[in-house]
Formats: sequence, C-alpha cells, structure tokens
Amino acid sequence: GYTDDPVIGPNYYETEQIINAFNALLRRMKVLDDSRQEFVSNVSHELKTPITSIKVLADSLLSQQDVPNEVYREFMQDIGAEIDREDKIINDLLALVKMDKKASGLNITSVDVVLLTEVVLKRMKPIAQRRNIDLTLESKRTITAEIDEVKISLVIMNLVENAIKYNRDNGWVKVELDADHQYFTVKVMDSGIGIPGDSLDHIYERFYRVDKSRSREIGGTGLGLAIARNAVLMHRGTIDVTSTVDEGTTFTVKIPLISNGSKVL
Ligand code: ADP
Repeated sequence: GYTDDPVIGPNYYETEQIINAFNALLRRMKVLDDSRQEFVSNVSHELKTPITSIKVLADSLLSQQDVPNEVYREFMQDIGAEIDREDKIINDLLALVKMDKKASGLNITSVDVVLLTEVVLKRMKPIAQRRNIDLTLESKRTITAEIDEVKISLVIMNLVENAIKYNRDNGWVKVELDADHQYFTVKVMDSGIGIPGDSLDHIYERFYRVDKSRSREIGGTGLGLAIARNAVLMHRGTIDVTSTVDEGTTFTVKIPLISNGSKVL
C-alpha cells in the first residue's frame, strides 16, 4: 500500500536504497577529492621549497658587492644542490604518476633476481662506503622470476638507499634473498636509527617522513616508500616492516615468482 504515497512516491523501499547508494557514492567521492587535494597541496609545497631556497641564495649574492670568490662558489654549490633536490622530487613524482595509471601495467620478463640485486647493490656501494657502512648480500639459491625488472629494481634500490641513509656511521646493511616454490623474498636489514611505533603506519604515505628536517638534509623526498609499495602491489606482493628505535629496521618484500600483474591498487 505504499505505492500511492504522494510524498515519497512509488516503490518507496527501492527509492530509499538508491538514495543510500548515491549518498555512499558522494561520500566516497569526497574522500577521494580530499586526498587528491591534499596530494596536490603537498606536491606544491615540496616543489616550492627548493625554489624558495634558490631565490634566497641568488638574491643575497646579488645584494652583496665584491663577493669573494670562495663565497661565490659556496653559494653556487648550494644553488646546485637545491636544483638536484628539485630534480629528484620531479623524477620521483613522475615514477609515481606513471604507476598510478593502471593501464600502464607491468613489463614482465624472466629475470635473474640475484643478478638484479647485485647490480643494484653495486650502484649503492659508493654511498655506503662514504659512511663506512658494510653492505652485504646473502642469497640462498638461484632465483628466476617473471617480474617487471625496472620496477623491482626500484623497490630494492629505495629500500637499500633508506637503509644506508637512516643508518649510523660504521653500521651495516644486509640484503637477504630467498625463495620457495611460489614466492621470492627480499629482506633489507639495517643497524640504523629505527622507526618509532606510531610512525610505522604512515611511512608508505606520500611525503611522510619521521623527521622532516633530517630527511631533507640527507636528500629524501618522502616518496621512496610510496613508490616501492606501489610497485610491490602491482606484482600482487606484500611489503612489511619491523623496527626498533636506535637498533635498526627490517623490510621484507614478498613477490610471486610468476606475476601476472594486478590492476587493483
Ligand atoms: P625519504 O625520501 O624521506 O627517505 P621514504 O618514503 O623513502 O622517504 O621514507 C619515508 C620515511 O620513513 C623516511 O623519511 C624515514 O623517516 C623513514 N624510513 C624509511 N626507511 C627507513 C629505515 N630503513 N630506517 C629508519 N627510518 C626509515
């Protein structure tokens, strides 16, 4: 007997369901829009920081007369470092945006994972040596996997780079590779500063850093782990972390040996 209701009209229950679904959709859209706005505002802030520094450095050089050669060089070096920072942020952002386009997907080939890891570690060695950090690789077997070589390289590179950056002088970084019949695992362990418990849930967020000033100083963009996590999820893998402050951190990445990719991020 509801069908004649002059206010709510026919099929009352169905109408209510549609309205509920529509409201749920609106709420979901609002959440998406808020996080998009936050991302854009973060990006703008991050991109502006080096530009502001460059402007200040250039202005103060120009305002001085007869600047001694060493001072001039020092300012120019600082300007160069800020430009490098800007370049790094832009490259990281491009890598993220590229992975966000779900259609871009994975470029799967058959990859020797031990060799790939060796290549990454060779590139990281000079950075580790600068602070006398011992960087070692232990692989328990040969591992061949159907993966996107570039993206998995990026994952290992970001984790090892962090393990070096957030370490102490004379510390160590150990990378361990292993596999069973379904997955291979990459463990990156360090003797570094560790991550406080309340930060662990946030480290994969874009631009999140435990210590902003420290991360900036050592050239962090706050995007490395967001990129790593995206790449892992695209392979239908998992990434986990355990950490003790002042003792060290362990990241464990688990990737299927045969990855047909994932469009659900
Ligand atoms: P960043 O460019 O700042 O290194 P990431 O996304 O790679 O950004 O990491 C986010 C934050 O997580 C870092 O700023 C740092 O505070 C923390 N972090 C990441 N890896 C480690 C680690 N191995 N040891 C201690 N802290 C870490």
